[in-house]
Amino acid sequence: MELSRRSLLVSAGSLPFAASRALSAGSEGAVTLEDLDRAAHAPLLKLDSIKEPVVIKSMELLRHENEIMVRVRSKDGAEGLSVTNSWWLADTYPLFLNRVAAFLVGKDARQLETLMEDVLQPTLNYKLQGLALWVCLAAAEMAILEMLGRITQQSIGELFGGVLQKDIAVYRASGRRGNRPEEEVAYLQKLVAETGATAIKFRVGGMLSNNRDSLPGRSEALIPMVREAFGSDMTIYADSNSSYDVPNAIRIGRLMEEHDYGFFEEPCRFDDLWETKQVADALQLPIAGGEQEFSFRRFRWSIMNRVMDVVQPDLHYYGGYIRSTRVARMAAAAGLQCTPHMSGWGLGYLNALHFMSYIPNAASHMEFKGLSNIPFHCDSSSLKCEKGMIRVPDGPGFGIDIDPDYVRKSKAI
Ligand SMILES: [Mg+2]
Repeated sequence: MELSRRSLLVSAGSLPFAASRALSAGSEGAVTLEDLDRAAHAPLLKLDSIKEPVVIKSMELLRHENEIMVRVRSKDGAEGLSVTNSWWLADTYPLFLNRVAAFLVGKDARQLETLMEDVLQPTLNYKLQGLALWVCLAAAEMAILEMLGRITQQSIGELFGGVLQKDIAVYRASGRRGNRPEEEVAYLQKLVAETGATAIKFRVGGMLSNNRDSLPGRSEALIPMVREAFGSDMTIYADSNSSYDVPNAIRIGRLMEEHDYGFFEEPCRFDDLWETKQVADALQLPIAGGEQEFSFRRFRWSIMNRVMDVVQPDLHYYGGYIRSTRVARMAAAAGLQCTPHMSGWGLGYLNALHFMSYIPNAASHMEFKGLSNIPFHCDSSSLKCEKGMIRVPDGPGFGIDIDPDYVRKSKAI
């Protein structure tokens, strides 16, 4: 069912809404910077069973048509293969080869947590912080996690401390704008019929559009129309992709409140944390955000000041599981929910599934944008969305085997 800002609180769940807002604003008992740092920097990976160094011998980028994979090999012959966010990596791969892989080769993969920080120092890599560097770091990290999972016979969730849930409910996200409201409702109905999803998300506003809609009046018409079409049991979210200023975000948010929406994603410019906070403070409706955030310290500030109620790091755009898990843990310490933004490429849904399997403050639904064409084998899950849920594969690593023939046909970049 729908969530109010009050019911979204996790650890502070017994507090009344007004009290919890006051706590996060800095009164006695509020979550502190120290609390968040302690949560973020606690050790993450369970690698005690590996007694000898796992020295990285090679990191290759392999391209098969539009997909790009990473293959990592250790000196002892262990191997990990992962699928990257190929849409971005197609443009940023020189950073992967020259700055990320070049740094990681020769290092002990057991030190992955510190390596993800240390990679910023050489060749002034820290100046490149942002999606372009982080998708490269995520690509490398995921291949190394796959290798470590295979060595230790642990799934991604087990590597990060243990699987808490195995069947993840999804919200089916529509990526469309500019179609008429009745066309969008029909499209959402098709997506729900295909997946059995119990939650949906659609787009309002025009994307970075200074309040302009993709069609005049589309958002105001759609918000009640979608609720009417799907009834009270459907969880409904809407995303403006940075469309509004504060007064218009509040106006649209109030309309969502009237129709019992679950959250309002990115109501204002994504990097205007201050405007977004004004909207969050004015509405009871939960605010979601974080997919464009690339700074740990801005995430920390947002969580401490409750800029959003549902924190949405993107596993690729934000540099992988280690960095994103630190964000989830800070959100948990502040009593906020987390659900990853899903990059709509490659095996993004598989990446998100594993993340949702182990974070303690997973929101009720995970974003889902459809399946991929990458051929793989998985015994423990169909990896299809059935009755609105997808089963997390069992270990080791990501729990799948990418078709060897598909890998053989790829070419090294
Ligand atoms: Mg979004």
